[in-house]
Amino acid sequence: MIDRREFLKKSGLAAIGTVAAFSKSGSALLQEETADLGKSKLKEESIPVVISTWKHGIAANEASWKILSNNGTALDAVEQGVRVPEADPDVQSVGYGGLPDRDGYVTLDACIMDEKGNCGSVAYLQNIMHPISVARMVMEKTPHIMLVGDGALQFALANGFKKENLLTKKSKEAWLKWKKESNYSSHKLKGHDTIGLLAIDKAGNLSGACTTSGLAWKYHGRVGDSPLIGAGMYVDNEIGAAAATGKGEAVIKISGSFLVVELMRNGKSPQEACEIAVNRIVKKQPEYIDKYFQVGFIALDKQGRYGAYSVKNGFQFALYRNNMNQLLDSKFFIENQK
Ligand code: ASP
Repeated sequence: MIDRREFLKKSGLAAIGTVAAFSKSGSALLQEETADLGKSKLKEESIPVVISTWKHGIAANEASWKILSNNGTALDAVEQGVRVPEADPDVQSVGYGGLPDRDGYVTLDACIMDEKGNCGSVAYLQNIMHPISVARMVMEKTPHIMLVGDGALQFALANGFKKENLLTKKSKEAWLKWKKESNYSSHKLKGHDTIGLLAIDKAGNLSGACTTSGLAWKYHGRVGDSPLIGAGMYVDNEIGAAAATGKGEAVIKISGSFLVVELMRNGKSPQEACEIAVNRIVKKQPEYIDKYFQVGFIALDKQGRYGAYSVKNGFQFALYRNNMNQLLDSKFFIENQK
């Protein structure tokens, strides 16, 4: 695949320029990138766009879209979007109903970032159903970016959040079953279902949110990529946004979401940027071949173009644009071993 700049140059469309190609309403004529120059065509694209990880992204996108279609901000949209799986007991990887760590505690990580580069984050937070809203409050009400553990809990309680038991019967039973069989084998760390959600609003501003209960059966106290700005999620309103899911340790090692945004800054399309980041993991982390290893990235750029790519098959993402909310299969590097 060629990058957009290269394509515009080759097809003689460079004179249109990215900015000139967009009308003020946000509707835009975008060049569809294809490997085959002959087949490429100008296609009507539009903003807003919402993209999020996994199947539970569909319901999250709905909530985000409601805000965006009423001229709301991307920041409100990403927060309200991810609150949906946070409150859903059937989503066992985020918020209420999340699978616990190996000692039976549900510990939550989340972060949020707006179009001005403001960001907030909480990690190892317990007993609060909506860590994303606590993260937003850290961003808006403190001079800090990240609060963790008991400090984050005290901050949440002081700001009106309620203390709740987040360990549902279903998740407790799964944990008890795991405890019997596991022998604390680190190979059996499960997860991969964090919600990362990116949005661009009608004004053309980008924001992102990421929230998770982390890998199931993790060490007590373990924090993954999801609350780390630049690892689990990153936004640069000049360029684009990215979010990650899967084995947090692998994402942290390459500063995954920051890397994807920087690749877009250097002219890569969102799709190419996600693919290059996955290739970086594959090249430097030979354990990518392990059965339980997975990492997936999603990306959205300033023009509303998107990308998604994962190490293994099975990663899905939800895309809402042109009034349509779809669950799509991501392209991937390698088929998982059975
Ligand atoms: N990235 C998350 C973590 O490592 C896990 C996931 O995506 O489910 O905590």
